[in-house]
Amino acid sequence: MKTINAVLNDSNFMKTEIFGMPLPQLQTVLAELGLKKFRARQIFDWLYQKCVFDFAQMSNLGKAERSLLQETFSVLPAEIHIVRKLDSADGLTSKVLLELPDGNAIETVLMHHDYGYSVCVSSQAGCDMHCAFCASGLHGAVRNLTVAEIAAQVYLFNAQLYPLDERVSRVVVMGSGEPMLNFDAVFGALQFLHQPDVANIGYRNMTVSTCGILPGIEKMKALGLPINLAVSLHAVRDELRTELMPVNKGFPFPDVIAAAEDYARSSGRQVTYEYILLADKNDSDRDAELLVEYLRYKQASVNLIPVNPVPEKGFFRPGTKRIERFLSILQQRRIHATVRREMGADINAACGQLRAAFAKEK
Ligand code: SF4
Repeated sequence: MKTINAVLNDSNFMKTEIFGMPLPQLQTVLAELGLKKFRARQIFDWLYQKCVFDFAQMSNLGKAERSLLQETFSVLPAEIHIVRKLDSADGLTSKVLLELPDGNAIETVLMHHDYGYSVCVSSQAGCDMHCAFCASGLHGAVRNLTVAEIAAQVYLFNAQLYPLDERVSRVVVMGSGEPMLNFDAVFGALQFLHQPDVANIGYRNMTVSTCGILPGIEKMKALGLPINLAVSLHAVRDELRTELMPVNKGFPFPDVIAAAEDYARSSGRQVTYEYILLADKNDSDRDAELLVEYLRYKQASVNLIPVNPVPEKGFFRPGTKRIERFLSILQQRRIHATVRREMGADINAACGQLRAAFAKEK
C-alpha cells in the first residue's frame, strides 16, 4: 500500500472531491489519511454551516492537517468560476453564469421572495430536449451534473448570504437540463440538501420540473418524498405541443397529466403546470378551455408565463388583455391559476441564453 506522500508525489494523482460527500464517507476517507473521526464533523460544519470552502480558513484544524487536506481534496464551490453575475434593478433576483472545472457552463438564479430565498438550479449542462422556445440546447456539450455540482449551486449563494445571517430555503430544479434524465444525481442532491446538518431544506420547499418524462415521474412517486412536481405543459393540442416540445412524441401529454395526477394523489402535493403564453400560438380562448378540460378536478395549479419575446423564432408576448382573458377563463372554471410574478425582468434573458452565448464565444 502506498504512503500518503507517495500518493501525493504521483503525477497521476487526482484530488478527491469531498463536497457533497455524506458524513460517514467523509469519516472513512479522513480515517484513511490518519485523521481523527471528530475532524470529519468539524469539516462538515465548515462546509455546510459556515460555507467555508478553503481548508486554510478552517481555523480549528491543525496547520499540518490543513495542508494535508489541501493537497488531497478539492472542494467544488471553490473551483467554480462565476463568469457573469446579473443583478436585477430591484435587487431581488441574481442570475449567475458558472464555469465548472471542466469548462462547461451552467446558469443558476437566486430569487428573494417575501418568504425567503429560493434558488433555481440546473440539472444538466445543456439539454437534449429541444423545446422550441429554449436556448439551453444550443451550443456546447450536454452532460449530467453530479450531486456536488447541483448542491454547489445552492452553496455558492449560501456563502453570499452567510454574512447577512440568511440562507436559501427553497430549491427549484428548473434551470437547464431535464432533471428526470439525471434522476439519481438530482434526487441525491435534494436528499443531501435536506439533511439538518447540511442545508436543512424541507422537501415541501423543493420542486422538480419536468418536460414530461413519464418514467421519471413514476420513479419520483416510488421514492415517496413529498417533493413538489412541476410539469412544463405549454400546449394542450397534440400537434402544437409536439411542435413546441418534441418530447410529446414519446410521452404524449394526456399520459403525462395522468401520471402527474397519480403523483399528486400519492404524495399529497399539488402539481404545478407551467404554461408559457405565446401570442397567437397557444393563447386563444379555445386553448384555455381545452386546458380546463384536461385539468378539471385535478390537484393542480397553472402557472402562466408570458414569453420573453424571441422574434427570430416567431414567439411574441401576448398583450395584457389576452393574458388576463386566458387567466379569467381558467379561474372562472375553478382552475387555480396565476400569472408568474415577473421577478428581475431586466435580467430575465430566456433560460439558457447566457450559457449559449458563453459556449459560442469559447
Ligand atoms: S425548456 Fe427545459 S426541457 Fe425544454 S429544452 Fe429547455 S431546459 Fe430542456
